[in-house]
Amino acid sequence: MKKVILLRFGEIYLKGKNKSYFERVLLNNIKNKVKEYGCDVVKISGRYLVTNFDDMDLNSIINNLTKIFGLTSLSIATEFDTSKELLEKFLANYKTDAKTFRVTVKRADKTFSIASNEYEKILGGIVLDANPNLKVCLKNPELELVVEIRENKKTYILTKSIPCCGGMPVGTSGKGLILLSGGIDSPVAGYMMSKRGLELVGLHFHSFPYTSAQAKEKVCKLAKILTDYTGHFKLICCPFTEIQEEIHKHCAPEFMITIMRRIMMRIAKICCDKFGAKAIITGESLAQVASQTIESINVTNDAQTTYPVFRPCIGMDKMEIIEISKKIGTYDTSILPYEDCCTVFLPKNPVIKPHLDKAKREENKLDIEKLINKAIENLEIIEI
Ligand code: ATP
Ligand code: MG
Repeated sequence: MKKVILLRFGEIYLKGKNKSYFERVLLNNIKNKVKEYGCDVVKISGRYLVTNFDDMDLNSIINNLTKIFGLTSLSIATEFDTSKELLEKFLANYKTDAKTFRVTVKRADKTFSIASNEYEKILGGIVLDANPNLKVCLKNPELELVVEIRENKKTYILTKSIPCCGGMPVGTSGKGLILLSGGIDSPVAGYMMSKRGLELVGLHFHSFPYTSAQAKEKVCKLAKILTDYTGHFKLICCPFTEIQEEIHKHCAPEFMITIMRRIMMRIAKICCDKFGAKAIITGESLAQVASQTIESINVTNDAQTTYPVFRPCIGMDKMEIIEISKKIGTYDTSILPYEDCCTVFLPKNPVIKPHLDKAKREENKLDIEKLINKAIENLEIIEI
């Protein structure tokens, strides 16, 4: 008899022939997440199991496990060799203060000779004998004793399920480049796409000395918080000062942001090439600001068409985005008051519905290739 953590996974059930690949990646992700505690992780039919942990570490281990994409829930369970005698002896000594209960038997091992509903009644009777004040309540019991009889000839008894994040295992959808500002939206966008199985690489534009060293540190901190969910990733820091100064000097002020965003996309494309990402991710939300109208997004998209741009926040209200940022722990850092490069040289009246031709005409006043090459030569890579 030993204490284990039983992990359930969801959507990867749907993956047919690729199922074993998804299961392998998820196993690796789980192992990485609990590596520091020296426990063992194995896959059994329909579940993963974490064993051989120190009780002192249990809360931290569970906290880590709930942040693994691909897992739907987990339970602390008592494991036995499957044996009627052992199980019934355990339940004959089971004491509880609950007033109502039920036993739920899940018989994954069909060679076990008694049908689930029949065995529920037998085991329920044993628990009742041990707890004379207890009453059976099938619909909404205070205590549900779940007995899982699994194919590995082990039986697990548990009472509670703790929800995990769901989604797909990180890495199974490839790699995405998240444009990470210091704001609220982009960390949420990174979280959401990582939840769909994307491994991340980050790209941050900074305008030192217009933006401070703390602004960059803030972005590093946001990236670090994200790694709880996404695993470690690289943050590419790209100098953007000269590009902004040049736009400011040569282009019509109302096109400042439009042109900045087109150049960001071109640099993002080059970073995707360099770092093996297959998609660009941003935290844009329709109509939130001038650069997030259909027309602005269209002009931004035109700047590179090699990679799809994922904008998971596009249909969300600010309040909904904030709710997620609070849940994942980025909110308090995001609201620290440091400037983003987008706030430098901000025009009074940015064009809300830019025309592509006009944007291109303004942009052609710059030596874009030279500016971009110089920025790319000066990328700084930070391991988060
Ligand atoms: P956020 O809260 O994510 O900063 P926002 O509402 O402030 O978003 P914008 O400033 O228009 O909106 O930025 C839209 C998106 O562009 C951001 O979500 C982010 O993906 C990207 N972006 C903006 N500024 C930067 C930056 N300095 N570095 C990298 N990406 C950026
Ligand atoms: Mg911003």
